[in-house]
Amino acid sequence: MSFRNFPMVPRVVFGRGSFNQLEEILEPKRGNNESPFIYLVDDVFKGKESLISRIPLKGNDQVIYISADEEPKTIYVDAIRDDIAKQFSEVPSGIIGIGGGTLLDYAKAVALMLTNPGSSADYQGWDLVNNEGVYHVGIPTISGTGAEVSRTTVLTGPERKLGMNSDYTPFDQVVLDPELLDGVPKNQWFYTGMDCYIHCIESLTGTYLNAFSQSYGEKSLDLCREVYLEKDEIDEDSQDKLMMASWHGGMSIAYSQVGVAHAMSYGLSYLLGTKHGVGNCIVFDQLEEFYPEGVKEFKQMVVKHGIDIPKGLCKDLTDEQFDTMIDVALSLVPLWENALGKDWQKTITREKLRSMYEMM
Ligand code: NAD
Ligand code: ZN
Repeated sequence: MSFRNFPMVPRVVFGRGSFNQLEEILEPKRGNNESPFIYLVDDVFKGKESLISRIPLKGNDQVIYISADEEPKTIYVDAIRDDIAKQFSEVPSGIIGIGGGTLLDYAKAVALMLTNPGSSADYQGWDLVNNEGVYHVGIPTISGTGAEVSRTTVLTGPERKLGMNSDYTPFDQVVLDPELLDGVPKNQWFYTGMDCYIHCIESLTGTYLNAFSQSYGEKSLDLCREVYLEKDEIDEDSQDKLMMASWHGGMSIAYSQVGVAHAMSYGLSYLLGTKHGVGNCIVFDQLEEFYPEGVKEFKQMVVKHGIDIPKGLCKDLTDEQFDTMIDVALSLVPLWENALGKDWQKTITREKLRSMYEMM
């Protein structure tokens, strides 16, 4: 038996206001004038001077605003890389992603594509990246995905939605400043936070569970419960806790796997472009059969915070469209195996998936 040897984020700073230390963190990594720092920033922050004015720009450093309305696509990653490569004669000193999972994934992917030839679509899969990327830094502004700790960057390509999973993918540095979570809209706070809650449930009830994953998953689940069940409002304490829940949830799935909700949510996302957080909620809401306690608690949290879970997404779909979603979901074999064991195909037939999607 061979055990997987996982890379981890080697440096992390945590604390309210820690964003102000960015200059001190980055300066030792700076090359010459032709080698700037490039900031990929969620365009929701355009004009928000309280954040933008604190980005420590010098020389040719650049801010590139990117919309998080759509999940990252390989064609956009390639275009950003080409644009940077055209402007500077040397590779940048670093790529810094500021935003949610979308921007964090862009930063990881662009950093890798600046030192690896071809299209990012060529690297969707496991361990296909050959060269170390440019130094890259992740600064989350919404919590839940675990993208700040993970070994992947999830991209939608011409043929598949699949991450660039590699030892070079994790960030070299993460800045966890809970103050940056100010301003997240309530529904989105819930959807992205539930990504973390669902990571925990899928990891802790899965057949791949081990003491490593359990230790992180249990802590993360406790923190999610404090944030979403015990508190009536989003205060500083709950921001701090959700940021750490996301981190631990990401660590938990690193050494296990996600499950039914993620497999089905990938199908929705591939066909309909449904974003990861809300897609997971739409699916999880219907998964009592697989995760009875988790779904019961989830429904309590939905009611407590008055969240809208969209319904009726699949009501007008054609047979062909259902088939596409079912194909995507079924292709995620490790997720099903983690959720239901080696015999998962006995329960999860195409008909079963169709009837489940019809409820969403
Ligand atoms: P997101 O980055 O898509 O952002 C969601 C929304 O919140 C956007 O409208 C964004 O503009 C807004 N927002 C973010 N921070 C804000 C702030 N401080 N104030 C106001 N608005 C703010 O959300 P997400 O749920 O964090 O990320 C989803 C993405 O993460 C998907 O593309 C998914 O594939 C990816 N993902 C990656 C991993 C991984 O391990 N790499 C894991 C899970 C999900
Ligand atoms: Zn997830």
